[in-house]
Amino acid sequence: MPYRLKDGIYAVRCRYPRCTFHSQFEIKQNIMGMTEKDVEIEAKRIARDMSLIKHDAIHATRHTLRNPEIRKVSGSYELIGPTPRHGEDSAYSAQEREDVYYKEYQRGEVILRKGDDATSVCEVVRGSAYPERNRSHRYRQGDCFGAAALLARRQRTCDVVAGSDGTKVAFYNLIELSKSNPKKARELFSAVMEDTFRVIQGLEKSIDRTKKDIEREVVRG
Ligand SMILES: [Zn+2]
Repeated sequence: MPYRLKDGIYAVRCRYPRCTFHSQFEIKQNIMGMTEKDVEIEAKRIARDMSLIKHDAIHATRHTLRNPEIRKVSGSYELIGPTPRHGEDSAYSAQEREDVYYKEYQRGEVILRKGDDATSVCEVVRGSAYPERNRSHRYRQGDCFGAAALLARRQRTCDVVAGSDGTKVAFYNLIELSKSNPKKARELFSAVMEDTFRVIQGLEKSIDRTKKDIEREVVRG
């Protein structure tokens, strides 16, 4: 989850002719999103909901607040980076507690290694990655991999390698994430399941091919 809203204050103005409603709202909710735009859309949606209540309490007998003008007065969309590290032990315990951490790779570097314990689900934040056993497939920005983490006590089933320099990967702890951001956890879950089905379909095709090869051999023999 790379961006979050910091100290956001939004101004909302009613566009209805001669309406005097013009108010400011501080957004205190913890809003996060994959892009700055996502954060902005969500923040403006909350500002609109807050202003609708206030506006209609005063003006509802004449009109309701529809399609108001909303703009950011102050605040920023802050990039959430990796936690600063002070020695291995503290870095490790920080990772244990958090729902996500980020890491960057150069092209060809191994992101997930076959046989490693699978504890997190991965999402490509920037760049690309590919599974070693299927080099033609590319995980691009927003794609997920690492489904084995969804099955308790599983190990990584194949190497996944960075496809370009500066590839950035988010490692999500789905259990922690389901507490802190259930919506994002659900999205990741379905994205990872899609990837799993794609892998299964690939396996079925290769089984089909093997079956046909065997049948051909039998006929010839
Ligand atoms: Zn109005």
